[in-house]
Amino acid sequence: MRLSQMLFLTLRDDPADAEIPSHKLLVRAGYIRRIGSGVYAYLPLMWRVLQKVSQIVREEMNAAGGQECLLPQLQPADLWKESGRWDTYTKAEGIMFALKDRRDQEQALGPTHEEVITAIARDMIRSYRQLPQLLYQIQTKFRDEIRPRFGLMRGREFIMKDAYSFNVDEESLEKTYQDMHIAYSNILRRSGLAFRAVQADSGAIGGSASQEFMVLAEAGEDEVLYTEDGQYAANVEKAVSLPPDAQPSAFTNYEKLQTPGTETIEKVCDFLKCSPTQIVKNVLYQTTFDNGTSVLVLVSIRGDQEVNDVKLQNELTKLAPKYGAKTVIQLAVPDAEAQGKWASQSLPLGYIAPDVADDYIKSQKDIAPRFLRLVDKTAADLKNFVTGANESGYHVVGANWNEQFKLPEITVDVRKARPGDRSLHNPDQILQSARGIEVGHIFQLGTKYSIAMGATYTNEQGEEKPLLMGCYGVGVSRLAQAAVEQSYDSDGIIWPVSIAPYHAIVTIPNINDAQNVEIAEKLYTQLNQAGVETLLDDRNERAGVKFKDADLIGIPYRIVTGRAIANGKVEVVERKSRKSQEIAIADVVSILKQWIQSVQSTQ
Ligand code: ATP
Ligand code: MG
Repeated sequence: MRLSQMLFLTLRDDPADAEIPSHKLLVRAGYIRRIGSGVYAYLPLMWRVLQKVSQIVREEMNAAGGQECLLPQLQPADLWKESGRWDTYTKAEGIMFALKDRRDQEQALGPTHEEVITAIARDMIRSYRQLPQLLYQIQTKFRDEIRPRFGLMRGREFIMKDAYSFNVDEESLEKTYQDMHIAYSNILRRSGLAFRAVQADSGAIGGSASQEFMVLAEAGEDEVLYTEDGQYAANVEKAVSLPPDAQPSAFTNYEKLQTPGTETIEKVCDFLKCSPTQIVKNVLYQTTFDNGTSVLVLVSIRGDQEVNDVKLQNELTKLAPKYGAKTVIQLAVPDAEAQGKWASQSLPLGYIAPDVADDYIKSQKDIAPRFLRLVDKTAADLKNFVTGANESGYHVVGANWNEQFKLPEITVDVRKARPGDRSLHNPDQILQSARGIEVGHIFQLGTKYSIAMGATYTNEQGEEKPLLMGCYGVGVSRLAQAAVEQSYDSDGIIWPVSIAPYHAIVTIPNINDAQNVEIAEKLYTQLNQAGVETLLDDRNERAGVKFKDADLIGIPYRIVTGRAIANGKVEVVERKSRKSQEIAIADVVSILKQWIQSVQSTQ
């Protein structure tokens, strides 16, 4: 492609809405353009990158026995109602774009395809002889994200490869899951990315294994906790650890003390000269279930620890049947406005005790009349602890469970693991923290969808059984941007060779020099013929502008037809190392071919 003919425009300034380097660079270098919130046009250079990533994904999926297909993006609501996910995905903070067609039928734009593929399996899979099956597609997904940002990282329209497996039993599912683990590792390695596979939250489905593939980068939205011995790595949402030991309490007598102005743990500790590990802190949450019932949840946890909202949501989902519901739609710490809707009088915030009275909740439809009281293991173990006195400006000290306070019936583990904690597998290993971008997620779903939607098969004994399922996603567009986030310098993007839009760019410093032009044209043609994907910068621009643009767009090799021509040579610059060398014109094609092959084989 000739740059003089390409729709190519680079920008000197960073776009105002771009916060992270990869987003700034992709816009400035003319790869993407914002059309609306979380909606981008992939311009010709970007589309080439996306196709390269897709091709790597396709090759690895095919090698693992995957069959490519294309499923509809417009999905009837009925399917989502069958699986029970319509409400979760459309109500409260639901992320599905839902619409009505001219017949007043509800439809949705696919955020994911479990429902569609399960409906197909229900119709087409009859017998164990047809199993296992692995289907995948590479396609645009739609999600009405709460906070679209960072360009392609969190779009409302983005490209995903999603795959779904159907298996006869756990063993077969485990095998497919392992195959996908290998395929995903290959995809990321071949795309030139530094990554880590980590244990991930599986939601409240329970028991099922799930791993995320994280591209390590400071701008990552996820926090990963890992140990140096390589034995443990998990998303902080899922991570477990040993809490620090609690210090023995100095308060052996139960009493109520005046503790003015001590709404925070830090202030109480200062005032009472005690350790946060001696305090039972009571954190108030409000959750809403899919049947519209709201429940006020009081979580008692040790003062030095924090609640992990994902773990709490999983516990609440398990408790949903108690409230005649199936799932959690919303979970938040209620602000003053939210409290105003149910509190009969103002709460002693900062001084709440585990037994705060249920009369704080006004009797009202859709609000459970009692607090749901949960105690985290860290708090359940404490003796002679300090906690609120249910009265502003007062705490109690020397308290014990089942003496002054009834131990809540439900003990949970909702503590957030933190860097610096000891690891469970080996307490000598201390958890470290890193930031990651989730580019892939593999998941053993089990029978959640097949049971809900009646997708069964007949086993060897002639019995009807629900299909076991797995699902496996790669964010193709997010992965492409993550590669930039991991590889750039002050001059621009540095693409890994395997996913660069072009391998090489031939730059003509002076288009008025006939010899410059002639050699450049010849190299451009020969390189492309030899399979080295090459751009020609034949624009009528100053050499400096052309060099700057070539660096900005991040093409791995730049060939300059300049002064060296006098010696029968051209200058070849590697973008990554900025190393420059003069190579005989006749050798350029074979040398570049060799470099590209050798770089790709090490990726
Ligand atoms: P996240 O936690 O980042 O919202 P998710 O867990 O909801 O993602 P999955 O449903 O597991 O995402 O989707 C599979 C993959 O699709 C993710 O691993 C990610 O790479 C990609 N992806 C998900 N949401 C987006 C988005 N809004 N924009 C771009 N890529 C996305
Ligand atoms: Mg995920």
